[in-house]
Amino acid sequence: MILNVLYLLATITFIFGLKLLGHPETAKKGNLIAASGMALAIVATLIFNEHEVSKKVYTLIGIAIVVGVVIGWVIAIRVKMTKMPELVSLFNGFGGASAALIGVVEFSHTGDNTLQMITIISAIVIGSLTFSGSMIAWAKLNGMMWKDIRLPKYNLINNIIFIGLIVFGAYIVWSQTESIFVVYILLSTALIYGVLFVIPIGGADMPVVISLLNALTGIAAAITGVLYGNMVMMVGGILVGSAGLILTFAMCEGMNRSLVNVIFGQFGETETEGAEGSAAALKGTYKSATVSDVAILMNYSQQVIIVPGYGLAVAQAQHAIHELEQILENKGIKVKYAIHPVAGRMPGHMNVLLAETNVEYDKLVEMDDVNPEFPNTDVVFVVGANDVVNPAAHNDPSSPIYGMPILDVENAKQIIVNKRSMKPGYAGIENELFYNQKTSMLFGDAKSVIQGLITELKGM
Ligand code: NDP
Repeated sequence: MILNVLYLLATITFIFGLKLLGHPETAKKGNLIAASGMALAIVATLIFNEHEVSKKVYTLIGIAIVVGVVIGWVIAIRVKMTKMPELVSLFNGFGGASAALIGVVEFSHTGDNTLQMITIISAIVIGSLTFSGSMIAWAKLNGMMWKDIRLPKYNLINNIIFIGLIVFGAYIVWSQTESIFVVYILLSTALIYGVLFVIPIGGADMPVVISLLNALTGIAAAITGVLYGNMVMMVGGILVGSAGLILTFAMCEGMNRSLVNVIFGQFGETETEGAEGSAAALKGTYKSATVSDVAILMNYSQQVIIVPGYGLAVAQAQHAIHELEQILENKGIKVKYAIHPVAGRMPGHMNVLLAETNVEYDKLVEMDDVNPEFPNTDVVFVVGANDVVNPAAHNDPSSPIYGMPILDVENAKQIIVNKRSMKPGYAGIENELFYNQKTSMLFGDAKSVIQGLITELKGM
């Protein structure tokens, strides 16, 4: 009874925490509340569970908790914001591995209970493929893997293996076999499928895959919850699963792609064609500006819109950009930030980064609301963003990002683009914005360039 009440409390904290995560101002609190709920659920299980547990098992659980907490704490403190997708990927992988291992351990305890058998087989399959898929996603994002390995007819091979997995799993349930050997074959096949599923997916689509794997981890955890009749595990898993799926579809929408296109499409190949096509079209020249040119331009503006991108996060220039914004505002210039849904490496990346510096939230304007404002903007300052402002998304049907919603910065009166070189962004394609008559390139590391602007503007 006490255990169920405590589980209910923990469940409420998860739902409440998730709600608070919806806004940068409350996200930190939401995270803490949900984490406290999880701690409550773990402690309650250890104290109030109905089973006989030996001292040895308690000691092992204690050691596992201490090791897990120390490793998790150190990694979470040290990880850079730009490396977050890699960390999420690792966490997903471990979640999947736990579900698969629980399935293997519990297999011998099922007897002839069909429902339990289905649950166990599902946990093994989903958990294993999530584990191996997440490890490949992690290695790809880390640049530790050859990026675009594609077996001939890989979609066909993958689909055959996937159907084979379902049929084999159904056979294990139907035959009520007690052989652990068949379970190991199922587990190995699911591991192989996870690898083959993620390997062909292009680098720029990895965040979507990670989010999908995250959803699968949640589903695996929910299945394990069903297995143990554990409400808190079930609800936690369902929340992760549904939140992961919502995020997956939000990302696809942000890039105007379907999930099927991300998984089965060949972004890399189209990307090369697109890059060549666009590069050929981009024979024009570009202008470059100095820090003092840009400072003068900004000083005489009425409205400046800042477009933050991945490069801002890499340069850790969030505090500098906030200072620049304050200096401009003190001079009576209106400043806003234009936030693209997939700017950076994960949706919400820019909001979190800027929230860290206490930028006022009403200054962060979402794409659909800010796009109509560009024609009335004197200067748009693009800082370390590239793909999310690439007009090829509107103008070039051969481009792999054609149709992706973008920030229409080309409608502003003057465009300043800060990056270190003319190299393409994450999607690997050229950007015609840089050759626009209204654009001036301001080359250099975002942090030092912004600090230069601050110094110049202070002296004006
Ligand atoms: P991009 O990766 O397109 O561009 C970032 C730019 O920052 C680069 O062109 C780089 O140019 C520049 N840069 C890097 N370091 C610095 C630095 N220290 N100082 C200044 N500039 C720097 O980023 P965006 O935010 O525009 O776009 C996000 C990309 O990620 C898109 O392709 C988007 O589709 C993808 N994405 C995909 C998601 C998905 O779900 N598939 C989710 C989130 C994002 P240079 O090297 O010349 O400095």
